[in-house]
Amino acid sequence: MTTPVIELSGASRRYDQGRAALDEVSLTVRAGESVAILGPSGSGKSTLLNLIAGLDRPSSGSVTVDGVRVDQLGEAASARFRRARIGMVFQFFNLLDDLTVADNVVLPAELAGMARGEARRRAAELLDVLGIARHARAHPGRLSGGERQRVAVARALMNRPALLLADEPTGALDSAAGEDVKALFNELHADGQTIVTVTHDLTLAQACATRTVTIADGRIARDVTRAVAR
Ligand code: ADP
Repeated sequence: MTTPVIELSGASRRYDQGRAALDEVSLTVRAGESVAILGPSGSGKSTLLNLIAGLDRPSSGSVTVDGVRVDQLGEAASARFRRARIGMVFQFFNLLDDLTVADNVVLPAELAGMARGEARRRAAELLDVLGIARHARAHPGRLSGGERQRVAVARALMNRPALLLADEPTGALDSAAGEDVKALFNELHADGQTIVTVTHDLTLAQACATRTVTIADGRIARDVTRAVAR
């Protein structure tokens, strides 16, 4: 068994009133897994994602990511940890339109203190691998949705994260661009990248995930690992 990249143990998140948004969830994700988190709206998917990313803390229980108790980090340490170890991809890309594609991709490395030359080299390599090198000097606003999501993935991979965390990565894309993102996630998984994707998109889960975790009412209702022939 490989090392866990994510380990939630009895993690709950309660807001002021009502039932827990997340109710004693225990979940282990190991290196190299590609996990889709499914569930209806309001079931607790975003809450789970926020706990894993260290953007929120559990009311009880623990959250360990890449060997670090992220629920015990202060705000600054949590931001540093996220920058260094977690790559995030969002539905609406969250790219900076004032910067070029290359500068968007380089940014996390610069913030993490990577030498400029090295950061530029790595960004160029990622843009090349992801098939968007020709757009390096363009601004993201000029790109199609699918291309923008590729830029966002390049940015997320810049610091060689232990975990790629995606929130509805195909949610804002047409079906062709969605297929493109699915193919990309499959390639990343084949390269050994650990991926957790929160999605409503069953076809994304079927196409990319080796394991599907379904959340209902703040609990894990199903957890199915698919055998893959390789
Ligand atoms: P999902 O991502 O699956 O749509 P969420 O994790 O956003 O679900 O929400 C789970 C539950 O927690 C819902 O009942 C939602 O209303 C509640 N919730 C989420 N965020 C807050 C908040 N900031 N304050 C109060 N309740 C919240």
